[in-house]
Amino acid sequence: MATDWSDLTVYTAARIHTMDPGRPHGSAPADAGPGDRAGAMAVAVADGRIVSVGTLDSMAPWLRRHPHTVDDRYAERVLLPGFIDPHTHLRMSGTFMGLNYVGPIDSASPTGVRAGLPDRDAVLNQLRSLASETGTGPDGRPRPVTTWGYDPASQKGHLDRDLLDSISDTVPLWVCSYAPHIVYANTPMIELIGVDDTTDVHGLGRYPDGRLNGWFIETGAVGLAFKPVAGEVYRPGFGREAVDRMGAVTRAAGITTTTDMIWGFESFDGEWADHRAAIDGGTFPLRMLMVPFEPRLRKAFGADMLDYLAAKRAEGDDRLTTHGVKYVNDGSYPSMTLRLGFPGYLDGEEGLTGEIPWAEVYDRMLPFWTAGIQIHSHANGDETVDMTLDVLQRLLHDHPRFDHRFVIEHYCLSTPAQARRLAALGGMASVNAYFVRYRAQMHADSGFGPDRSEATARLGSLERAGATFALHSDFNLVVTPLSPLLAAEIAVTRTGADGTVLAPGERISVDRALRAITVDAAHILRRDDRLGSIEAGKLADLTVLGDDPYEVDPARLGAIEVVDTVLGGVPTSQLAGGSATAAAAGR
Ligand SMILES: [Zn+2]
Repeated sequence: MATDWSDLTVYTAARIHTMDPGRPHGSAPADAGPGDRAGAMAVAVADGRIVSVGTLDSMAPWLRRHPHTVDDRYAERVLLPGFIDPHTHLRMSGTFMGLNYVGPIDSASPTGVRAGLPDRDAVLNQLRSLASETGTGPDGRPRPVTTWGYDPASQKGHLDRDLLDSISDTVPLWVCSYAPHIVYANTPMIELIGVDDTTDVHGLGRYPDGRLNGWFIETGAVGLAFKPVAGEVYRPGFGREAVDRMGAVTRAAGITTTTDMIWGFESFDGEWADHRAAIDGGTFPLRMLMVPFEPRLRKAFGADMLDYLAAKRAEGDDRLTTHGVKYVNDGSYPSMTLRLGFPGYLDGEEGLTGEIPWAEVYDRMLPFWTAGIQIHSHANGDETVDMTLDVLQRLLHDHPRFDHRFVIEHYCLSTPAQARRLAALGGMASVNAYFVRYRAQMHADSGFGPDRSEATARLGSLERAGATFALHSDFNLVVTPLSPLLAAEIAVTRTGADGTVLAPGERISVDRALRAITVDAAHILRRDDRLGSIEAGKLADLTVLGDDPYEVDPARLGAIEVVDTVLGGVPTSQLAGGSATAAAAGR
């Protein structure tokens, strides 16, 4: 296709970091001083893509040949490639943001920031007041109270059926954990869900005497628990609202590309359509890769699942497409349901596997592996990492495959030996580093014990092993903020909640951390041919910063102002709906 040169635009900048190691600033004369306009750093874009990066001088051969506009709006700013968060759940998290909030940290909502609740007693009080106000539904029975955000570790203990019955034994109470790996229910809600002590479903929690304790754990059981509240959680138009809300939140964090890592949890076509509508409506200024959640994909399409993905790939474009396939093979870090090797949990808990029995994971991955589809496999605990590496090794042995880019998602608790084995097998990691700051010290004496907690997110080991890794937020299915720059800050400093440096040998450099939110994140999504760095030919996605991340104190990386993003050459601050949705997100 012929290039459309009509919109050739040159953005000048105080500094450009291309993340192309060969030309870290593009063509930049060392003696270019302030006020030297010809020597000003600049990036030229046309037709949605990068034409040249360097200085006005260096790109003169292009500029002489084509009419162009020089745009100085970022002349005092610092340009990086658009940030990539390779693991989020925007539609789902935007949906939860519409429910009553009982989480521990302040949370953005459509009506402004909602304050966190410090502990379980505060949550129980909140539930009591919601139960007293709920009223009756059309059937004359009490309307269920639906809440989201509970965090058993920081809010001091799990909820359970008896505790919730003490708040109300007539109003159905439904409490989804912040990372929605657990739903807690009281007796009236358990009855609505339609299970009893004789029900045999994976993930139903029980008291020692065998009675249901009101816990619904992991995707299978959580899905069951959603049924009676689906009308409340999934209100008409909820999906588009959620996508709009999260489009504003992610844009403000400087993100230009992300992936939905649980596509199909509610509805494959519905989720796709909401993103399509938001993108076409100008309210979602990002590129989105929809990664199908395998159990739902298999259930929805059976033998046609690969054909369905191929059809969506054909239907997609450079803003919305499908990518890879996603597996979940253990529980969550903050909910303390991941799987640990010896010596296990402090109090003897065992954690939980995903809804696919581990013995079947190989067979379930095989059709995707042989079809050349990239596998993203969630493993939080070290025992799960071992299982995942065993499966990867078997796949490689039985069906050799090059450049497979198998990615372990989260990679929270691991060992240096696992990093070396992952690298040897050609695997990669997409890591949640926020936990070092927000969770690690909490779990020293709650769940995982001091050694593993301190060494959460072993990025230094991955780097020494030669494994490629990215940083992600998993927003907001874990109790952490959404900010690639903050993730980078934590990866570089490894300061815990009280400022102590945790496992200092696992720190990485600023450059490596910035790669992990740009070009290395693109690589693990098989998009580094077109995204992740500022290079001629790539899509013109930029993040515009108020300060230079290579110059500031690394402990302040997360505080750098995100001024704007540029998507396909167009500043997103000027897109229709950009500022309106930012206001809706409470920013
Ligand atoms: Zn996730």
